[in-house]
Amino acid sequence: MVELPDKRTAFIDWYLAVVEAANLSDKRYGIKGMNVWTPYGFRARRNLDRVLVREIEATGSQGVEFPALIPATEFAKEKEHIKGFDAQVFWVTKGGATELDVPLVLRPTSETAMYPIFALWVRSHRDLPLNVYQIVNTFRYETKTTRPFVRVREIHFFEEHTCQLDEARATERVRSNLGAFRRMAASLALPYLAVRRPKWDTFPGADYTIAFDLPLDGVRTLQLGSVHHYRDNFSIPYGIRYEAPDGSTHAVHQTTFGLSERLLGAIVGAHGDQRGAVFPSEIAPYEVVIVPVVAGAGGTAVARAAEDVAEELRRAGRRVVLDDGDERPGAKYFRWELAGVPLRLEIGPRELEHGQLTSVDRLGRKASVARASAPADVARRLEELDAELVRRALDGLRSAIAPAARLEELTGSKQVRVLGWCGDEACGHEVERAIDGALLGTPEEPLPVPFAAPTSCIACGRTDGVRTALAAQPM
Ligand code: ZN
Repeated sequence: MVELPDKRTAFIDWYLAVVEAANLSDKRYGIKGMNVWTPYGFRARRNLDRVLVREIEATGSQGVEFPALIPATEFAKEKEHIKGFDAQVFWVTKGGATELDVPLVLRPTSETAMYPIFALWVRSHRDLPLNVYQIVNTFRYETKTTRPFVRVREIHFFEEHTCQLDEARATERVRSNLGAFRRMAASLALPYLAVRRPKWDTFPGADYTIAFDLPLDGVRTLQLGSVHHYRDNFSIPYGIRYEAPDGSTHAVHQTTFGLSERLLGAIVGAHGDQRGAVFPSEIAPYEVVIVPVVAGAGGTAVARAAEDVAEELRRAGRRVVLDDGDERPGAKYFRWELAGVPLRLEIGPRELEHGQLTSVDRLGRKASVARASAPADVARRLEELDAELVRRALDGLRSAIAPAARLEELTGSKQVRVLGWCGDEACGHEVERAIDGALLGTPEEPLPVPFAAPTSCIACGRTDGVRTALAAQPM
């Protein structure tokens, strides 16, 4: 039996213990921050990828895959970008014993791999928009403490890169990405805050960045992903230009949209409890575990019935695991709860006799399910569980946000604070010092709890040009 640390008072210890006990990732690989995906974790990742692919392709994006190595000469073309990533890249400098003429960068992100090729693909206005995405591993030399899924050196990365005719169409693509993320997050039962980052926290090379933040432990926020508007910052140095119908040529405007396995970390962190992980049904490695409860006689009939139910649910498209090992049922329940399986079906001699199954969802809610209507009942119970996860997570998000009127209120604050900000960088940094964290930026979408708009800057007191901003301690 595993005793998990207290989620409320020791969040990080609890998180690490759940990832390990649920067997989602093996951290014993010989390079810090490069973890091994276990079969169980890999299933969750594949389900996550399926959701991302479904939603991005619904917006007209197509999958591509670019090489992992980037020539240093291409990497250096956009000045802000290289400045932002220089300290984080792994270099390949030798091929066998030979020093390479041009050193290679192991991609930290793929702008500089893709854009020289985009310059060849985009010739005419008819080639636009170009909307493509890839899901590949990227590499960053992370110097802080690494955590499975949340901060790693080898990142399972989803990145969409687009080229648009002009600034307005790139803005439309940003809006489209925000909609796609809303649908992705709904499948993960995750609420979030969409926040436009301040200038100093914008993605290197971008004109602006909108990030998705989720307060996880009532103290720190996790950035779930981000969308960036590049304007023509990359297309000019990389020569991504098109000919308009009138024969004039223009640089494209570009956007990107980045997500990663951090979303799995967010699912563990947001939904998990003192009994382990809790997966929403779309991401769950298995949606249903069937446990035959066999005591004495009648074992064969029970075992056969359990197999039949498993087969029936699989035919209905469910991901099912039948746990017919020789452990005691109680030990099995404990293990599958730790692993976060949304629904458990128990079948014993009594259930068999009455043509029923006992279902217990991961939140402990018990119900009888008629054997004859098992697939429909299971579908309904999973929907109910997902809805309850959304409700709980939204409650958590709402209670993690509070207004602040004075800088002193930020000191030691354990919430996302809503405050007035004049937009000056100096005032932003004063806020960051006071909260010992970050000015996350200005909300891009309505907050889940309505607040009266602040009328003055929390740092300098100015009343003109004041906007609502959020500050917190990021993870
Ligand atoms: Zn100010």
